[in-house]
Amino acid sequence: MIKALGYFIEIIKGSIITTRHFVVNMHFHILKVLGFKTKRKGAVTIQYPEQKREIASRHRSLHRLMKRADGKPRCVVCMLCVTVCPSECIYVEAAEDPDPEIQKYPSIFIIDLSRCCFCGFCVEACPEDALRMDTGKIEFAEYSREDMVYNLEKLIE
Ligand code: SF4
Ligand code: SF4
Repeated sequence: MIKALGYFIEIIKGSIITTRHFVVNMHFHILKVLGFKTKRKGAVTIQYPEQKREIASRHRSLHRLMKRADGKPRCVVCMLCVTVCPSECIYVEAAEDPDPEIQKYPSIFIIDLSRCCFCGFCVEACPEDALRMDTGKIEFAEYSREDMVYNLEKLIE
């Protein structure tokens, strides 16, 4: 009985806190809608997707593969990104490049974004700055896992 009473007291306390936040935030929201400036930041919900929040300059978004001046991928298939990836979602296959300066290029480069945890380790590990996560694209939901698999063509676009 005492246990049940304590339980209900906690529910009432929680409800009071939630209601207080709701009323205070609604108050600031109405003031902002009416054009008043308030000192309080973050009281208003961003009306996504009509309104979009500015992405931080050091954000990590959709990957992209960088190109050389001649349009070829910068990647030299060193496999560092494949090795460091904690989700094991990068797959790379090498082919021989006729240019002796380059030696190898990726004939296949796949990132399975359905498994990627966006840690950025692959970008940090790359010695050629061939891989970046600065596209600013954070909306790439798909209906199937297959569509989340990005190949060389998609990554180099
Ligand atoms: S961001 Fe992390 S999880 Fe995603 S591909 Fe790169 S290393 Fe793997
Ligand atoms: S670490 Fe960079 S150069 Fe090495 S395989 Fe990955 S993308 Fe290519």
